[in-house]
Amino acid sequence: MKTVDMTRGKPSEDQLLLTWQLERKKNFSDYIVEGIDIRNYGVLEGLQGARALLSPILQVPPAQVIAFGNSSLTLMFLYARWLLDRYKKETGRNTAKWIALTPGYDRHFAICEELGIELISVPMTATGPDISAIQSIINQDNSVIGMWCVPKYSNPCGVVYSDEAVMGCISLLQESSPYFTIFWDNAYGIHDFDPLNPTPLLPIMQRAEEMKLQDKLALFCSTSKITYAGGGLAGMGLSVEMKKHFLKHLGVISIGPDKLVQQKHIQLFSEPTSLTAHMKEHAALMMPKFEAVLSTFADRLYNTPGVRWSKPKGGYFISLYTPHGTAKKICTTARDKGIILTQAGSAYPYGHDPEDAHLRIAPSYPSLEDVTYAANIICDAVNEVIKSM
Ligand code: PMP
Repeated sequence: MKTVDMTRGKPSEDQLLLTWQLERKKNFSDYIVEGIDIRNYGVLEGLQGARALLSPILQVPPAQVIAFGNSSLTLMFLYARWLLDRYKKETGRNTAKWIALTPGYDRHFAICEELGIELISVPMTATGPDISAIQSIINQDNSVIGMWCVPKYSNPCGVVYSDEAVMGCISLLQESSPYFTIFWDNAYGIHDFDPLNPTPLLPIMQRAEEMKLQDKLALFCSTSKITYAGGGLAGMGLSVEMKKHFLKHLGVISIGPDKLVQQKHIQLFSEPTSLTAHMKEHAALMMPKFEAVLSTFADRLYNTPGVRWSKPKGGYFISLYTPHGTAKKICTTARDKGIILTQAGSAYPYGHDPEDAHLRIAPSYPSLEDVTYAANIICDAVNEVIKSM
């Protein structure tokens, strides 16, 4: 039996080759960069060039960027723990809560679970978070210290936050406890399928600064899905004040980031248009896979009651919604037929989808042929399970 693994949103071999080939064309012999020896310790905030590269993704000036390490999740974990420690120390409280937009990213939820922070689910809408639902939760409970947001091509819904949603998020900063911080994970900030006509996103930091709320934002991104997954750059965007404080904390953990990898990235994208051109090449590989899934769903599930799916214009995921009480069964039925999907429920806190109605489809890694094959098997599984109900 043919098996296709669609569990995680990993870049495909072809996507990795884009960077690999670009790298082969460059000469990486400089080790004195920006006046310092990049083979040695130091420059905790990251090279100016690396910060400048991440700055447009984070939508903050390079001076507000920290380029550190290879994983934005690590930075999110460190910032969340730092926030939690301050909250506990300063308030004397022992319990903290966090808003989880659902369906959402399982690894975000895992950070809170690891830190002992209770997750409160709030359903995601087609244009962003349900601001009034969140507002009423945080009005009643000032132990809520954070909220996860993936503002562009959210994992797994593919939602891009509308201007109103971004402004709504800022209004939450205004009406919340002093610790409440929005973790703005722009992991897919430049992953448009049409990179020359990117879907716009309001720059939240800029708007928050206008209202003096900038200290309650922590922005994140990485090049995991631009260059190499696990071999790229991670970055954070903070207010000037919070960057200063957080660097003191980061300085206890590390004497400085790997500046050799930072310099490699600076050189890879040294021409002004090179990053957009690179993302165009990614899009050319991703789009046919998304189209294969979406057209198969459109052909085979269009009149199946209770079934709908997202149609993202970028990012890495498609959400498939099925009738209540069927997602787990569809997942096991597909698995029995060789198609391995992310476990049903994993886009919800504690792995529990109360409606058992959501599946995350990750078409990036398998070949186009395998993605098309898998999409058909998923449709078989959906139809089979629904028929048996
Ligand atoms: N955030 C989101 C929303 C993601 O989907 C992913 C990768 N699946 C990550 C972060 C992981 O980022 P990194 O490799 O920088 O830790």
